Amino acid sequence: MPEPHRTATGIITESPLVLVDAITTEGVTGHGIVFTYTATALRPTAELIENIAPLVEGKPLAPLQISDELAARFRLLGTQGLVGMALAGIDMALWDAQAKVHGVSLTRLLGGEAKPLQAYGAIGHDGWRESAIVAENWAKRGFRGVKAKIGYPTLREDLEVIRAIRAAVGEDVAIMVDYNQCLTPAEAIARITALDETGLTWVEEPTLAHDFEGHAAIARAVRTPIQCGENWWGPLDLRHAIHAGASDFVMPEVMKIGGVTGWRRAVAMAEAHGLRVSNHLWPEVSAQLLATTPLAHWLEYADWWNPILTHPLQIDGGFALPCTTAGSGIAWNEAAVSHFSA
Ligand SMILES: [Mg+2]
Repeated sequence: MPEPHRTATGIITESPLVLVDAITTEGVTGHGIVFTYTATALRPTAELIENIAPLVEGKPLAPLQISDELAARFRLLGTQGLVGMALAGIDMALWDAQAKVHGVSLTRLLGGEAKPLQAYGAIGHDGWRESAIVAENWAKRGFRGVKAKIGYPTLREDLEVIRAIRAAVGEDVAIMVDYNQCLTPAEAIARITALDETGLTWVEEPTLAHDFEGHAAIARAVRTPIQCGENWWGPLDLRHAIHAGASDFVMPEVMKIGGVTGWRRAVAMAEAHGLRVSNHLWPEVSAQLLATTPLAHWLEYADWWNPILTHPLQIDGGFALPCTTAGSGIAWNEAAVSHFSA
């Protein structure tokens, strides 16, 4: 990555990606992206996908059916972690191929129409001065929202960062903050209660992502909306979170939630519960999916993977414009892929 991205729980300096191609007998190639977070998981994930490939080869191009068959195949091992990531990468590639076979965007394949989506930009865990500069740059580019990593050693520093960002962007830009799971529920209640006056649009993952009861206790105790979802594995995690009352909004990630298939099933539940839906990373595919999501909220914009894409997601005046050509908006810049190949 051109610049490291700091969070309360670690620094991200590289984006280890496994690029998945699904090739149909008609010669259509579908693409999917798996982000392994750490390079140590890169090769095992790639090998897992290669090992799963024979289970898909020769089957009709039916992403829902293949998703269910593979989930059944891995039921005893479990479909979280690397297995879930591998299956999601295959699922994304199959849906991309399906859309291309029909000559339409993923949005249109799913019955929707491309529309502009309000987008926000990211601010790292870089202190109040740098946070304010980055926020101002996003606002100058027309973005209507910014999201800052907080979780500094003291509440005072968290407040300083939020106030500096507010001073930089004014009242009309939404500010979200992300604790990246670094607080206990009790700490989170104390901190967020103190942040309630700052007009935040949401506070993300204040405590451990799978502590649904903890998040529910926080959500009940504070006024600022709680946002979770990027670390939920599959629609079932989302169901458990909803039942617990863990989150006021949801932001599933197309990979961990189970690919396009998992996303569709998860957001159907979110819609039935009246929960606004945002995404985590995968801006190209997520824009296509959010365009078909009735309670679409914010698109999380990230340019981390732009170097390997021929057509990264377009932003105009702070709004993301989902790609309207056939497929899910993913095409490899082959020269860049060769250059960055691990
Ligand atoms: Mg987050």
